[in-house]
Amino acid sequence: MKIVDLIATSVGIPLAIPLVHAWGFHPGFGRLIVELVSDEGLVGLGECTLTPNGQQIEEVVRSCKSFVIGEDPFDLEKLRWKIANPFYVRMFGPNLINAFAAIEFACLDLQGQAIGRPVYDLLGGKMRDRVPVSAYVFYAAPKGPGQIPPWEEADARILEQCAELIEVKGCRSIKFKAGVYPPEKEVETVRHMRERFPDVPVRLDPNSSWALTTAVRVAHELSDVGLEYLEDPVWGLSAMAKLKRMSPHVPLASNMACFSYDDIAPSAFLDAVDVILADPHWYGGLRATKELARLCETFGFDMGMHSGTEFGVSLAAVLHLAASLPAIHHAPDVHYHYLEDDIIEGGPFRYVDGAISVPNGPGLGVKLDRQKLAYYHEFYEKYIAAIAAAPSMEPIYTKARW
Ligand code: MG
Repeated sequence: MKIVDLIATSVGIPLAIPLVHAWGFHPGFGRLIVELVSDEGLVGLGECTLTPNGQQIEEVVRSCKSFVIGEDPFDLEKLRWKIANPFYVRMFGPNLINAFAAIEFACLDLQGQAIGRPVYDLLGGKMRDRVPVSAYVFYAAPKGPGQIPPWEEADARILEQCAELIEVKGCRSIKFKAGVYPPEKEVETVRHMRERFPDVPVRLDPNSSWALTTAVRVAHELSDVGLEYLEDPVWGLSAMAKLKRMSPHVPLASNMACFSYDDIAPSAFLDAVDVILADPHWYGGLRATKELARLCETFGFDMGMHSGTEFGVSLAAVLHLAASLPAIHHAPDVHYHYLEDDIIEGGPFRYVDGAISVPNGPGLGVKLDRQKLAYYHEFYEKYIAAIAAAPSMEPIYTKARW
Protein backbone atom coordinates (compact mmCIF):
# COMPACT_ATOMS: atom_id res chain seq x y z
CA MET A 1 0.00 0.00 0.00
CA LYS A 2 1.27 3.47 -0.92
CA ILE A 3 0.11 6.94 0.04
CA VAL A 4 -0.91 8.91 -3.07
CA ASP A 5 -2.35 12.13 -1.62
CA LEU A 6 -2.50 14.32 1.50
CA ILE A 7 -5.46 16.68 1.92
CA ALA A 8 -5.68 19.15 4.83
CA THR A 9 -8.92 21.01 5.62
CA SER A 10 -9.32 23.61 8.37
CA VAL A 11 -12.62 23.38 10.24
CA GLY A 12 -14.22 25.43 12.99
CA ILE A 13 -17.12 24.42 15.19
CA PRO A 14 -19.04 26.90 17.37
CA LEU A 15 -19.47 26.33 21.10
CA ALA A 16 -22.68 26.16 23.07
CA ILE A 17 -21.35 29.11 25.16
CA PRO A 18 -18.19 31.20 24.60
CA LEU A 19 -15.52 30.35 27.18
CA VAL A 20 -12.78 32.28 28.94
CA HIS A 21 -9.44 31.07 30.21
CA ALA A 22 -6.33 32.73 31.65
CA TRP A 23 -5.10 34.06 28.31
CA GLY A 24 -8.19 34.80 26.31
CA PHE A 25 -11.47 33.72 24.88
CA HIS A 26 -12.87 30.74 22.95
CA PRO A 27 -15.85 31.59 20.68
CA GLY A 28 -15.40 28.28 18.87
CA PHE A 29 -12.63 25.76 18.27
CA GLY A 30 -10.58 25.31 15.11
CA ARG A 31 -8.86 22.07 14.01
CA LEU A 32 -7.12 20.76 10.92
CA ILE A 33 -8.46 17.53 9.41
CA VAL A 34 -5.86 15.51 7.50
CA GLU A 35 -6.76 12.85 4.94
CA LEU A 36 -4.21 10.41 3.52
CA VAL A 37 -5.41 8.63 0.37
CA SER A 38 -3.93 5.24 -0.49
CA ASP A 39 -3.39 3.68 -3.92
CA GLU A 40 -6.01 1.11 -2.87
CA GLY A 41 -8.63 3.85 -2.52
CA LEU A 42 -8.65 3.90 1.30
CA VAL A 43 -8.77 7.21 3.17
CA GLY A 44 -6.99 7.48 6.53
CA LEU A 45 -8.02 10.30 8.85
CA GLY A 46 -5.93 12.48 11.15
CA GLU A 47 -6.46 15.75 13.00
CA CYS A 48 -4.34 18.32 14.79
CA THR A 49 -4.52 21.70 16.44
CA LEU A 50 -4.61 25.02 14.58
CA THR A 51 -3.62 26.99 17.69
CA PRO A 52 -2.14 29.53 17.92
CA ASN A 53 -1.27 30.27 14.28
CA GLY A 54 -3.58 28.35 11.97
CA GLN A 55 -2.03 29.56 8.73
CA GLN A 56 1.45 28.50 9.83
CA ILE A 57 0.26 25.08 10.97
CA GLU A 58 -1.66 24.47 7.73
CA GLU A 59 1.51 25.28 5.79
CA VAL A 60 3.60 22.88 7.90
CA VAL A 61 1.12 20.03 7.41
CA ARG A 62 0.78 20.65 3.65
CA SER A 63 4.56 20.82 3.33
CA CYS A 64 4.68 17.21 4.55
CA LYS A 65 2.92 16.04 1.39
CA SER A 66 6.17 15.44 -0.45
CA PHE A 67 7.45 13.36 2.49
CA VAL A 68 4.46 11.01 2.54
CA ILE A 69 3.65 10.54 -1.15
CA GLY A 70 4.84 7.10 -2.28
CA GLU A 71 5.44 5.88 1.29
CA ASP A 72 3.83 2.83 2.86
CA PRO A 73 1.63 3.87 5.84
CA PHE A 74 3.15 0.97 7.82
CA ASP A 75 6.57 2.68 7.63
CA LEU A 76 5.86 4.98 10.56
CA GLU A 77 9.35 5.08 12.00
CA LYS A 78 10.74 6.18 8.63
CA LEU A 79 8.02 8.84 8.31
CA ARG A 80 8.76 10.11 11.81
CA TRP A 81 12.41 10.59 10.92
CA LYS A 82 11.50 12.34 7.66
CA ILE A 83 8.98 14.73 9.26
CA ALA A 84 9.77 15.14 12.96
CA ASN A 85 13.16 13.76 13.87
CA PRO A 86 14.25 15.05 17.29
CA PHE A 87 16.85 17.43 15.89
CA TYR A 88 14.41 19.06 13.45
CA VAL A 89 11.93 19.42 16.28
CA ARG A 90 14.52 21.16 18.49
CA MET A 91 15.49 23.44 15.61
CA PHE A 92 12.13 24.20 14.01
CA GLY A 93 9.62 23.61 16.74
CA PRO A 94 6.80 21.37 17.95
CA ASN A 95 4.58 22.21 14.94
CA LEU A 96 6.45 19.35 13.27
CA ILE A 97 5.31 16.97 16.02
CA ASN A 98 1.75 18.26 15.73
CA ALA A 99 1.84 17.63 11.96
CA PHE A 100 3.42 14.21 12.35
CA ALA A 101 0.82 13.23 14.95
CA ALA A 102 -2.04 13.93 12.51
CA ILE A 103 -0.21 11.97 9.80
CA GLU A 104 0.48 9.09 12.21
CA PHE A 105 -3.23 8.88 13.16
CA ALA A 106 -4.10 8.76 9.44
CA CYS A 107 -1.47 6.06 8.76
CA LEU A 108 -2.76 3.95 11.66
CA ASP A 109 -6.29 4.44 10.32
CA LEU A 110 -5.10 3.19 6.91
CA GLN A 111 -3.28 0.24 8.52
CA GLY A 112 -6.37 -0.73 10.50
CA GLN A 113 -8.66 -0.48 7.48
CA ALA A 114 -6.22 -2.50 5.38
CA ILE A 115 -6.10 -5.42 7.84
CA GLY A 116 -9.66 -5.05 9.13
CA ARG A 117 -8.69 -4.31 12.77
CA PRO A 118 -9.30 -1.31 15.05
CA VAL A 119 -6.38 0.97 15.89
CA TYR A 120 -6.38 -0.15 19.54
CA ASP A 121 -5.30 -3.59 18.28
CA LEU A 122 -2.29 -1.95 16.62
CA LEU A 123 -1.43 -0.35 19.99
CA GLY A 124 -1.36 -3.59 21.96
CA GLY A 125 -5.05 -4.40 22.35
CA LYS A 126 -8.01 -3.10 24.26
CA MET A 127 -7.95 -2.91 28.06
CA ARG A 128 -11.39 -1.24 28.37
CA ASP A 129 -14.49 -0.66 26.23
CA ARG A 130 -15.34 2.76 27.61
CA VAL A 131 -13.15 5.69 28.57
CA PRO A 132 -14.22 7.85 31.53
CA VAL A 133 -13.95 11.61 31.02
CA SER A 134 -13.82 14.52 33.45
CA ALA A 135 -16.45 17.24 33.81
CA TYR A 136 -14.31 19.92 32.19
CA VAL A 137 -15.76 23.34 33.04
CA PHE A 138 -14.81 26.90 32.12
CA TYR A 139 -16.17 30.22 33.21
CA ALA A 140 -18.43 31.48 30.41
CA ALA A 141 -18.44 34.86 28.68
CA PRO A 142 -21.87 34.88 27.02
CA LYS A 143 -21.51 38.45 25.77
CA GLY A 144 -18.21 37.89 23.98
CA PRO A 145 -14.53 38.77 24.30
CA GLY A 146 -13.54 41.41 26.81
CA GLN A 147 -16.92 41.18 28.54
CA ILE A 148 -16.30 38.88 31.45
CA PRO A 149 -19.41 38.81 33.65
CA PRO A 150 -19.35 39.61 37.38
CA TRP A 151 -17.85 36.68 39.30
CA GLU A 152 -21.15 35.87 41.10
CA GLU A 153 -22.84 35.31 37.73
CA ALA A 154 -19.92 33.27 36.35
CA ASP A 155 -19.75 31.20 39.55
CA ALA A 156 -23.47 30.33 39.35
CA ARG A 157 -23.16 29.37 35.69
CA ILE A 158 -20.10 27.16 36.17
CA LEU A 159 -21.96 25.27 38.91
CA GLU A 160 -24.86 24.75 36.47
CA GLN A 161 -22.38 23.27 33.98
CA CYS A 162 -21.02 20.94 36.69
CA ALA A 163 -24.56 19.81 37.50
CA GLU A 164 -25.26 18.98 33.85
CA LEU A 165 -22.01 17.03 33.45
CA ILE A 166 -22.22 15.21 36.78
CA GLU A 167 -25.96 14.66 37.29
CA VAL A 168 -27.00 14.16 33.65
CA LYS A 169 -23.86 12.94 31.87
CA GLY A 170 -22.42 11.04 34.85
CA CYS A 171 -18.85 12.48 35.02
CA ARG A 172 -17.01 11.66 38.25
CA SER A 173 -14.36 14.39 38.57
CA ILE A 174 -14.39 18.13 37.89
CA LYS A 175 -11.68 19.83 35.86
CA PHE A 176 -11.98 23.55 36.62
CA LYS A 177 -10.26 25.95 34.20
CA ALA A 178 -9.28 28.90 36.39
CA GLY A 179 -6.93 31.90 36.09
CA VAL A 180 -9.72 34.28 35.04
CA TYR A 181 -10.89 35.93 38.29
CA PRO A 182 -8.73 36.82 41.31
CA PRO A 183 -7.56 33.60 43.01
CA GLU A 184 -9.57 34.17 46.21
CA LYS A 185 -12.75 34.15 44.10
CA GLU A 186 -11.69 30.99 42.30
CA VAL A 187 -10.98 29.36 45.68
CA GLU A 188 -14.61 30.18 46.55
CA THR A 189 -15.78 28.53 43.33
CA VAL A 190 -13.85 25.37 44.29
CA ARG A 191 -15.55 25.42 47.70
CA HIS A 192 -18.97 25.78 46.03
CA MET A 193 -18.19 22.80 43.79
CA ARG A 194 -17.16 20.67 46.79
CA GLU A 195 -20.25 21.71 48.81
CA ARG A 196 -22.62 20.89 45.97
CA PHE A 197 -20.83 17.70 44.79
CA PRO A 198 -19.00 16.41 47.89
CA ASP A 199 -18.08 13.04 46.33
CA VAL A 200 -16.57 14.50 43.16
CA PRO A 201 -12.88 15.48 43.29
CA VAL A 202 -11.79 18.78 41.75
CA ARG A 203 -8.71 19.47 39.62
CA LEU A 204 -7.81 23.13 39.32
CA ASP A 205 -5.93 24.56 36.31
CA PRO A 206 -5.09 28.29 36.03
CA ASN A 207 -2.79 27.78 32.99
CA SER A 208 0.40 28.91 34.76
CA SER A 209 -1.04 32.36 35.41
CA TRP A 210 -0.20 32.56 39.13
CA ALA A 211 2.96 33.81 40.81
CA LEU A 212 4.69 31.16 42.91
CA THR A 213 3.67 32.89 46.17
CA THR A 214 0.04 33.00 44.97
CA ALA A 215 0.10 29.30 44.16
CA VAL A 216 1.55 28.48 47.60
CA ARG A 217 -1.20 30.56 49.25
CA VAL A 218 -3.97 28.87 47.22
CA ALA A 219 -2.53 25.39 47.85
CA HIS A 220 -2.60 26.04 51.60
CA GLU A 221 -6.04 27.71 51.55
CA LEU A 222 -7.45 24.62 49.84
CA SER A 223 -5.59 22.08 51.99
CA ASP A 224 -8.86 20.94 53.63
CA VAL A 225 -10.51 20.37 50.23
CA GLY A 226 -8.14 17.63 49.06
CA LEU A 227 -7.76 18.63 45.40
CA GLU A 228 -7.36 15.75 42.95
CA TYR A 229 -4.44 17.84 41.69
CA LEU A 230 -3.33 21.38 40.95
CA GLU A 231 -2.50 21.67 37.23
CA ASP A 232 0.26 24.01 36.03
CA PRO A 233 -0.45 26.72 38.63
CA VAL A 234 2.95 28.33 37.90
CA TRP A 235 5.12 28.55 34.84
CA GLY A 236 8.08 26.19 34.35
CA LEU A 237 9.60 23.15 36.02
CA SER A 238 11.73 25.11 38.52
CA ALA A 239 8.71 26.95 39.92
CA MET A 240 6.71 23.71 39.95
CA ALA A 241 9.50 22.02 41.94
CA LYS A 242 9.60 24.89 44.44
CA LEU A 243 5.82 24.79 44.82
CA LYS A 244 5.95 21.04 45.43
CA ARG A 245 8.53 21.50 48.19
CA MET A 246 6.47 24.30 49.79
CA SER A 247 3.08 22.55 49.42
CA PRO A 248 3.82 18.82 49.48
CA HIS A 249 0.19 17.95 50.33
CA VAL A 250 -1.09 18.88 46.82
CA PRO A 251 -0.30 16.66 43.81
CA LEU A 252 0.89 18.69 40.81
CA ALA A 253 -0.10 17.86 37.25
CA SER A 254 1.32 19.31 34.05
CA ASN A 255 0.80 19.67 30.34
CA MET A 256 2.61 23.03 30.13
CA ALA A 257 5.77 22.90 32.23
CA CYS A 258 6.05 19.28 31.08
CA PHE A 259 4.64 18.76 27.60
CA SER A 260 7.13 16.72 25.59
CA TYR A 261 9.59 13.87 25.85
CA ASP A 262 12.38 16.39 26.49
CA ASP A 263 10.63 17.42 29.73
CA ILE A 264 10.32 13.96 31.28
CA ALA A 265 13.86 13.58 32.65
CA PRO A 266 13.99 17.10 34.17
CA SER A 267 10.51 16.58 35.67
CA ALA A 268 11.80 13.42 37.36
CA PHE A 269 15.18 14.85 38.44
CA LEU A 270 13.65 18.06 39.83
CA ASP A 271 10.69 16.20 41.37
CA ALA A 272 8.48 18.87 39.81
CA VAL A 273 5.43 16.89 38.68
CA ASP A 274 3.22 14.07 40.01
CA VAL A 275 0.80 13.65 37.11
CA ILE A 276 1.84 13.86 33.46
CA LEU A 277 -1.05 14.93 31.25
CA ALA A 278 -0.32 13.19 27.98
CA ASP A 279 -1.52 14.41 24.60
CA PRO A 280 -0.76 12.35 21.49
CA HIS A 281 -0.64 15.55 19.41
CA TRP A 282 2.22 16.89 21.54
CA TYR A 283 4.10 13.67 22.28
CA GLY A 284 4.29 12.61 18.62
CA GLY A 285 1.39 10.27 17.95
CA LEU A 286 -0.46 7.36 19.49
CA ARG A 287 2.49 4.98 19.58
CA ALA A 288 4.79 7.54 21.22
CA THR A 289 2.16 8.29 23.85
CA LYS A 290 1.70 4.59 24.52
CA GLU A 291 5.46 4.46 25.17
CA LEU A 292 5.09 7.45 27.49
CA ALA A 293 2.84 5.30 29.69
CA ARG A 294 5.81 2.94 30.23
CA LEU A 295 8.02 5.90 31.17
CA CYS A 296 5.38 7.05 33.66
CA GLU A 297 5.43 3.55 35.19
CA THR A 298 9.22 3.68 35.37
CA PHE A 299 9.51 7.12 36.96
CA GLY A 300 6.44 6.83 39.19
CA PHE A 301 4.28 9.47 37.54
CA ASP A 302 0.50 9.17 37.38
CA MET A 303 -0.75 9.53 33.83
CA GLY A 304 -3.72 11.67 32.84
CA MET A 305 -4.70 13.06 29.46
CA HIS A 306 -4.73 16.66 28.29
CA SER A 307 -7.40 17.89 25.90
CA GLY A 308 -6.66 20.30 23.06
CA THR A 309 -10.26 20.86 21.87
CA GLU A 310 -10.46 17.67 19.79
CA PHE A 311 -13.08 17.06 17.13
CA GLY A 312 -14.32 13.56 16.28
CA VAL A 313 -11.21 12.27 14.45
CA SER A 314 -8.78 13.24 17.23
CA LEU A 315 -11.25 12.13 19.87
CA ALA A 316 -11.47 8.70 18.20
CA ALA A 317 -7.65 8.54 18.19
CA VAL A 318 -7.54 9.48 21.90
CA LEU A 319 -10.17 6.83 22.69
CA HIS A 320 -8.17 4.10 20.92
CA LEU A 321 -5.06 5.20 22.82
CA ALA A 322 -6.86 5.37 26.18
CA ALA A 323 -8.44 1.96 25.51
CA SER A 324 -4.97 0.46 25.10
CA LEU A 325 -3.28 2.06 28.12
CA PRO A 326 -2.44 -0.26 31.01
CA ALA A 327 -3.92 2.21 33.52
CA ILE A 328 -5.82 5.48 33.46
CA HIS A 329 -5.05 7.12 36.79
CA HIS A 330 -7.21 10.18 36.11
CA ALA A 331 -10.19 10.42 33.75
CA PRO A 332 -9.03 12.14 30.53
CA ASP A 333 -10.05 15.75 29.95
CA VAL A 334 -12.22 16.53 26.94
CA HIS A 335 -13.68 19.83 25.73
CA TYR A 336 -16.04 17.84 23.53
CA HIS A 337 -19.30 18.62 25.39
CA TYR A 338 -18.90 22.31 24.50
CA LEU A 339 -19.03 21.64 20.74
CA GLU A 340 -22.35 22.27 19.04
CA ASP A 341 -21.70 19.60 16.40
CA ASP A 342 -19.01 17.40 14.86
CA ILE A 343 -17.72 16.58 11.38
CA ILE A 344 -18.01 12.79 11.64
CA GLU A 345 -20.77 10.59 10.22
CA GLY A 346 -23.49 9.71 12.69
CA GLY A 347 -23.00 12.89 14.75
CA PRO A 348 -21.05 13.56 17.92
CA PHE A 349 -19.87 10.85 20.34
CA ARG A 350 -22.13 10.55 23.40
CA TYR A 351 -21.29 10.52 27.11
CA VAL A 352 -22.98 7.66 28.97
CA ASP A 353 -22.34 7.27 32.71
CA GLY A 354 -19.44 9.71 32.44
CA ALA A 355 -17.66 7.73 29.72
CA ILE A 356 -17.40 7.49 25.92
CA SER A 357 -17.44 4.13 24.12
CA VAL A 358 -14.37 3.22 22.11
CA PRO A 359 -15.17 2.85 18.36
CA ASN A 360 -14.81 -0.74 17.16
CA GLY A 361 -14.76 -0.37 13.36
CA PRO A 362 -11.57 -1.00 11.37
CA GLY A 363 -8.95 1.75 11.78
CA LEU A 364 -10.12 4.69 13.85
CA GLY A 365 -13.73 3.64 13.22
CA VAL A 366 -14.94 7.09 12.15
CA LYS A 367 -15.74 8.59 8.74
CA LEU A 368 -16.09 12.22 7.66
CA ASP A 369 -19.49 13.71 7.03
CA ARG A 370 -18.52 15.55 3.82
CA GLN A 371 -21.38 18.03 3.99
CA LYS A 372 -20.47 19.05 7.53
CA LEU A 373 -16.77 19.21 6.67
CA ALA A 374 -17.56 21.73 3.91
CA TYR A 375 -19.96 23.69 6.12
CA TYR A 376 -17.56 23.95 9.06
CA HIS A 377 -14.62 24.75 6.79
CA GLU A 378 -16.54 27.83 5.72
CA PHE A 379 -17.36 28.61 9.35
CA TYR A 380 -13.64 28.41 10.18
CA GLU A 381 -12.70 30.76 7.35
CA LYS A 382 -15.40 33.29 8.23
CA TYR A 383 -15.19 33.36 12.02
CA ILE A 384 -12.45 31.34 13.69
CA ALA A 385 -9.54 32.28 11.39
CA ALA A 386 -10.39 35.99 11.78
CA ILE A 387 -10.25 35.69 15.55
CA ALA A 388 -7.03 33.66 15.39
CA ALA A 389 -5.49 36.45 13.26
CA ALA A 390 -6.41 39.08 15.88
CA PRO A 391 -6.19 37.12 19.11
CA SER A 392 -7.61 38.38 22.37
CA MET A 393 -4.86 36.49 24.19
CA GLU A 394 -3.04 38.11 27.06
CA PRO A 395 0.65 37.39 27.60
CA ILE A 396 1.32 34.67 30.12
CA TYR A 397 2.98 36.90 32.70
CA THR A 398 0.38 39.67 32.92
CA LYS A 399 -1.33 37.97 35.82
CA ALA A 400 1.80 37.51 37.92
CA ARG A 401 0.41 40.36 40.04
CA TRP A 402 -1.85 37.73 41.56
MG1 MG B 1 -3.55 22.19 31.34
